[in-house]
Amino acid sequence: MSKILLSEAIHESGLQLLEGKAEIIVCPEPTEVAIGSLIKDVDALIIRTAGSVTREMVEQAGRLKVISRTGGGLNNIDIDAATDHSIVVCGVKGPQDRMVAEHTVAFMGALTKQFFYLNAQVRKGNFASRKEYRPAGLAGKRIGLIGLGRIGRIVADICSQAFHMEVWAYDPYLTPETLDSEYIVLKDDMAEVIRTADFLSLHVPLTENTTGLLGKAEFDLMKPGAFVINTSRGEVVQEAALVEALKSKKIAGAGLDVFEKEPPDIENPLFELENVVVTPHSAALTKEAVALLAIGSAENALRVLDGKKPSYSPNWGKIQERAS
Ligand code: NAD
Repeated sequence: MSKILLSEAIHESGLQLLEGKAEIIVCPEPTEVAIGSLIKDVDALIIRTAGSVTREMVEQAGRLKVISRTGGGLNNIDIDAATDHSIVVCGVKGPQDRMVAEHTVAFMGALTKQFFYLNAQVRKGNFASRKEYRPAGLAGKRIGLIGLGRIGRIVADICSQAFHMEVWAYDPYLTPETLDSEYIVLKDDMAEVIRTADFLSLHVPLTENTTGLLGKAEFDLMKPGAFVINTSRGEVVQEAALVEALKSKKIAGAGLDVFEKEPPDIENPLFELENVVVTPHSAALTKEAVALLAIGSAENALRVLDGKKPSYSPNWGKIQERAS
């Protein structure tokens, strides 16, 4: 029977799929050290967001055939190293897309309608806070999307169709023809999108090119009343520059699901700022999606162990080509 290592427990619907088909080993904690000490002796690894798989770990994993992630972002896996050792890396795309898009829009609502501030005022008897006229409207405002893939596209649809907002986007890998949208304005200059957005929302993958994509120069360009929303990856934003822009009121606020360091330190200066709403990288972790992601990652691991193609893999083709 194959051995499958789980970096940490997955949803029970995924576990049920594995039961009887493989021996399941659950790592005591999702750290490199703990995963590294167990990876040597398993056929598959199912990994969630915490922990990572480095080249060194891959080199020690003599019988490992597949690294399956319970999501679509594969930035915590050294894919090149895995490919060098013919280990298939795979992920699950789909169930989380709408969830992350909804989370993005929920941040937008919480920030513009000032829910957290007003909720606190009503509870402490300050009903007169209604006369501070803090909430703002969404209709007619412009959302600037950096990255217009699966999630960005759903955000664009909701903002345009449900909230009657203008949608501008920057994605250098798209053309108006491939985009095929009547209402999204695709710009080839990222600065133009940043400069004119009322909400700037990030939906790019974490790559060499997108690490630190938003820094001081970009925050300086933004409108003073604008909000930044990041549900992509923490490292896409230079956090120190964001803190400075928020503190100096260069921008109005931020909604953040992801951080440069996760979990973030409790002393993170972002947490002292009133104009920031934060969630613990939980945009995709809805009751519905978390079960589907666990099932998808378990199915992918079993498929690869059975010699079959997983639902999504960046290196399956290359490994098959080399083997043939
Ligand atoms: P996707 O691959 O479908 O889309 C990404 C888009 O970004 C692509 O269209 C690509 O062309 C574009 N892009 C790449 N580099 C760019 C650049 N330098 N500038 C502008 N655009 C660029 O990805 P997705 O599934 O929509 O995911 C988007 C992000 O959301 C990823 O970072 C992913 O890791 C993250 N995510 C977060 C959560 C969460 O829980 N917060 C869950 C799922 C995904």
